[in-house]
Amino acid sequence: MTHPLQLIKRYFESKGITLATKKDAYVFLVTEVGELGDAIMRQENGWVRNDPTKEVDIADEAADVFMMLWALADSYHVDLDQALKNKLERKLNGHHD
Ligand SMILES: [Mg+2]
Repeated sequence: MTHPLQLIKRYFESKGITLATKKDAYVFLVTEVGELGDAIMRQENGWVRNDPTKEVDIADEAADVFMMLWALADSYHVDLDQALKNKLERKLNGHHD
């Protein structure tokens, strides 16, 4: 099974997407979190902030957030899988950080 980070890199290459700086990666992540928030608000409250004709899908927007978080982590050479495992193991062992 192809790792999501490989698919993300392949997608970025296919679209000519480059994240010029780590700050850009962070800003894109934040914008995707906003889009996920919009999708949740539309579903939960029927509230539409932007284009009411635009389809929104929580799964799609969550995937965008995941994609940009992965891209940001990779820009810092962080293995997100391992970082999450390490974090959860510490928490499960009673460390609260
Ligand atoms: Mg999005």
